[in-house]
Amino acid sequence: MNDLSEADNIAQVAQHLQQAQRVLFITGAGLSADSGLPTYRGIGGLYQQQDTEDQVPIEVALSYGMLRTHPALTWKYLLQIEQACRGVGYNRGHEVIAKLAQDKEVWVLTQNIDGFHHAAGSPNLIEIHGRLQHIHCMSCKHKEVWPDFSHLQLENLPPVCPACGGILRPAVVLFGEMLSPLETLSLTQQVQQGFDIVFSVGTSSLFPYIVAPVLEAKHDGVPTVEINPGKTEISNAVDYRLRNRAAKILDDIWNTWKQMS
Ligand SMILES: [Zn+2]
Repeated sequence: MNDLSEADNIAQVAQHLQQAQRVLFITGAGLSADSGLPTYRGIGGLYQQQDTEDQVPIEVALSYGMLRTHPALTWKYLLQIEQACRGVGYNRGHEVIAKLAQDKEVWVLTQNIDGFHHAAGSPNLIEIHGRLQHIHCMSCKHKEVWPDFSHLQLENLPPVCPACGGILRPAVVLFGEMLSPLETLSLTQQVQQGFDIVFSVGTSSLFPYIVAPVLEAKHDGVPTVEINPGKTEISNAVDYRLRNRAAKILDDIWNTWKQMS
């Protein structure tokens, strides 16, 4: 961390970006918050650790165990999460990250399940907690992509597989579930290959697999940048700390970088 002004920090970050070939963006709820989504931890924090109206903690309602035993209850809360994303799209921050990929090898490690990076056109995505719109059957190999869940009704949950009648579910990591082995492998491979600059954007950096790539980069002398209005686990470790909204700072970095190139 340093004592430079925000503008000076942005100028230095843009300079590093200019020289970088491989760039990693680690993104969390704070980036999607600039689209109007509520911030949350994992997929549960819409409720901020309160009990649900079904008298169970949200971590339990949104767990694999509950989905197996009471799928309608889990689906009720999945539907609420989807309703919060419905009609909302990616913002300038997602757009800047996607546009940078036209000039550099940009990888995005995101905790967000809203699919906004995909919609904005980012090519190299590691969606470590999955994507809400990707639906599959728990009993057979049937898969679907739902742009939204507006066809679902509370009284008719859970949705069932048109092929076998099994329960459908979204490809998101529920509480008590392992991360996707494919996404984890992709992350390990990319981190091993190394990056020339690492950004942590709008994440509270609670999970070890979100923090590790930043600390490894720092250890290897690679410039690290945190964009977050609040203080997190990694705030004292990064080289550049930009305490403002993600979409605004990313737009500032883009404009400064564009003036250089
Ligand atoms: Zn099926």
